[in-house]
Amino acid sequence: MAPPLTVAVIGAGVAGLATASALKVEGHRVIVYEKSNRLGGTWVYDPRVESDSLSLDPNREIVHSSLYQSLCTNLPRQLMGFLDYPFATRKYGDLRTFPGHEEVLGLLNEFASEFGLVELIRFETEVVRVERVDLRNDKWVVESRSGTNELGSEEVFDAVVVCNGHHTQPSVADFPGMEKWPGKQMHSHNYRVPEPFQDQIVVVIGDGPSAKDISQEISKVAKEVHLSSRSLNIKISKLEYGDNMWQHSEIDHVDENGEVAFQDGASVHADIILHCTGFKYDFPFLKTEGIVAVDDNRVGPLYKHLFPPELAPSLSFVGLPYYPAPVFLMMDLQAKWIAHVLSGKVSLPSKEEMLADVQEYYQTMAEKGIPKHHTHSLGHEFEYSDWLAAQVGLPRVDEQTRLMHKSYFKFISDNGFWRKKEWQPGYRLQQEEL
Ligand code: FAD
Repeated sequence: MAPPLTVAVIGAGVAGLATASALKVEGHRVIVYEKSNRLGGTWVYDPRVESDSLSLDPNREIVHSSLYQSLCTNLPRQLMGFLDYPFATRKYGDLRTFPGHEEVLGLLNEFASEFGLVELIRFETEVVRVERVDLRNDKWVVESRSGTNELGSEEVFDAVVVCNGHHTQPSVADFPGMEKWPGKQMHSHNYRVPEPFQDQIVVVIGDGPSAKDISQEISKVAKEVHLSSRSLNIKISKLEYGDNMWQHSEIDHVDENGEVAFQDGASVHADIILHCTGFKYDFPFLKTEGIVAVDDNRVGPLYKHLFPPELAPSLSFVGLPYYPAPVFLMMDLQAKWIAHVLSGKVSLPSKEEMLADVQEYYQTMAEKGIPKHHTHSLGHEFEYSDWLAAQVGLPRVDEQTRLMHKSYFKFISDNGFWRKKEWQPGYRLQQEEL
């Protein structure tokens, strides 16, 4: 087995904590850099919003978390939690099936305390540069800044694991007339509470969990809420939820007089356009001379969404895939795989084989007509997590979790995300019904 390594982990959210824990178990020496003063990443609610409500100004002060005050988990607690640290059995605090964000943060704090991770974290220390020491050398220099130390300090590591999250840099919709439209435009990243929407006519763009949650919440105070979604090419229809909510297709254009025209032919004179249009991957500190790049939200090339073949195994990324079958569990397995590879227990294929695998994945996506920006979408399938588990000698994801997952998503597809809180674990749980 290879000797223990020094490993820098960037970020102390779910991904960073899972990674630190897995590396520690394998005996590696770990430092977790965390730019804020708390662990938990996304799950640390921050009432502040950014100065630019669409978050387009490159000089704005960045607020990390995109949580809104009322946010409850969009997955039932049975599908959250780590492999060896389930959420479902937490017996105090907020016991709801879809608990509030404070409960998730509680879980993360407990997880970090129990596994001795807090002492590995350097709080209020932002990584500003990660670069190979030299091209023939696999070692990495990590430059960080903390407090008033403007000059920054440099440390050298055998490996770096990037866990900086991907729900901070908004992706904004683009439609004709947008720059001259006189109303207020904002991204869900800067949404916290419904009060500012009192008596307003609001257009909400998107059809993900945030669009649905937020539009439902603001409909209680707003005059009208108009949901606009790319995936819907239906004629204007009133939603079952709320007397003042309508559903439309994509925005066609907006006018200087405040009009928002939809492709379905309807139009409204709106006060606010709220972009619930997702986020972009961003690694401002990473200098790889183009070996790893973000192109149309594809981070690549990465073997299994994780190792850049050219720089593996000393550089890796945890948490890039979205819509995995359970998020925490997937990150936990990614972390374990990295830790096993770094300690020499598991070998990676050759650089050429990894590159070929990536190319084959891209090819398959292209043949299926899947756009590049969906590269890291796993479509709620277990295949990836099962594959990771096999790498580290663990059994595939257990039957209970699989059934629970299928039951929940079946409920959502039968009843709509709006009614998620009515889901019961037994919903159509018989195998043949799913
Ligand atoms: P993050 O939680 O974003 O953590 C990244 C950390 O890196 C942060 O602490 C940040 O401060 C730090 N960092 C970043 N850059 C630097 C740097 N340069 N130097 C030092 N530190 C740095 N998932 C679920 O499983 N269930 C849900 O119900 C759910 N709901 C969600 C709702 C919303 C609104 C959002 C945005 C996400 C939701 N998610 C949910 C997904 C959620 O993002 C993941 O659960 C998880 O929190 C991601 O963890 P992460 O560690 O990858 O990133």
